[in-house]
Amino acid sequence: MANKTKSTIPGNLSVDTELVVAGREPFRHDGFVNTPIVRGSTVLSPTVADLEGHTGRYSYGRRGNPTVESLEIALTRIEGGAGVVLTPSGLSAVSLALLAVLKAGDHLLMVDSAYQPTRRVCDEVLTRYGIETTYYDPLLGSGIASLVRPNTRAIFLESPGSQSFEIQDVPAIVDVASQHDIVTLMDNTWATPLFFRPHDFGVDISIQAGTKYLGGHSDLNIGTISANARTYRRVHLAHGDLGITVAPEDAFLASRGLRTMAVRLERHQQSALTLAHWLSTRPEVRLVLHPALPQHPGHALWKRDFKGASGLFSIILQPVPKPTVDAFLDALSLFGLGYSWGGFESLAIPFDCSPYRSATHWAPGGPAIRLQIGLEDPADLVADLDSGFAAMAAAG
Ligand SMILES: *Cc1c(COP(=O)(O)O)cnc(C)c1O
Repeated sequence: MANKTKSTIPGNLSVDTELVVAGREPFRHDGFVNTPIVRGSTVLSPTVADLEGHTGRYSYGRRGNPTVESLEIALTRIEGGAGVVLTPSGLSAVSLALLAVLKAGDHLLMVDSAYQPTRRVCDEVLTRYGIETTYYDPLLGSGIASLVRPNTRAIFLESPGSQSFEIQDVPAIVDVASQHDIVTLMDNTWATPLFFRPHDFGVDISIQAGTKYLGGHSDLNIGTISANARTYRRVHLAHGDLGITVAPEDAFLASRGLRTMAVRLERHQQSALTLAHWLSTRPEVRLVLHPALPQHPGHALWKRDFKGASGLFSIILQPVPKPTVDAFLDALSLFGLGYSWGGFESLAIPFDCSPYRSATHWAPGGPAIRLQIGLEDPADLVADLDSGFAAMAAAG
């Protein structure tokens, strides 16, 4: 039996192959291709010596579970760090990572374009534990050095911003951080490690809302934190000490999403580009905020650092009253109105960053709409948006 395990995977595989093989050990599970959903809290030991000597691979459900571990191992290979921990949502991945590297009296630099609930973690939670946050302009680059204080312990990046799509100069910021021994964390949900690998750019901690492209089917919330050798121990300890676990069913769904992530992202990318180009020809649209379009202000940085663009971008309409924007959105039938993104289905939401920006001013010159381009035929999506514009004209 032992020589039939075929569990050794070569180390130099391309990422497409890693997505297929990583984390699976079929011959530990009677040959079944996927790691089964193992439910359980208590793990039995055959003897006292085994119990006290911790000889088993698992000791207690919260401390390790085969389904969960399989996903951790797979993501560690995809992210290229020292290890991954999983959390029950993307937001809990953000908050756990921050709690793992910060303590009372520390100062945090947080990008002003961060996912808005991430700001609440800083403003409502970290403040109560004596951690101060300064928001910085996402376009700062090496200029961030002027905001560093003696007690600055972490810089948090998110590139692009998931509504406003500013691209950050990650290497310039990491360079400043390393000069001051500051930990860098990045919310990489938009690009995923397939289009941008934070650890390759020296970022210490790479965070994904796995709820989005990893899950890919709008049927779970999960968060992933990948840490490099410098930070993994702290992240792993904080995860255990705070008692964070994910359900094996959710880990299973995320693993299932992982296997098809590259092909889904390729389709999201192509369709989003088709839609973005079409929208940039429309008279109703003032601006298309998509980093892969040459006219985007962050295009050069995106081209330098990213391997691709996912399916989420925004448009700014010509100035029209709110009821006209609502008529556009209400007329859409393929685009659902809903938060989140990364699933197989297209979505649209109106948004306004201005109430919560503090280091920058959000004034795009018209109503803003964020689009998640799903896996439908792009021609059908164009027709859907076209009927939205017709409804807008009728309303306006
Ligand atoms: C959705 C999202 C999160 C949070 O993920 P949840 O699973 O909803 O908690 C964090 N960051 C970004 C950029 C997101 O889009």
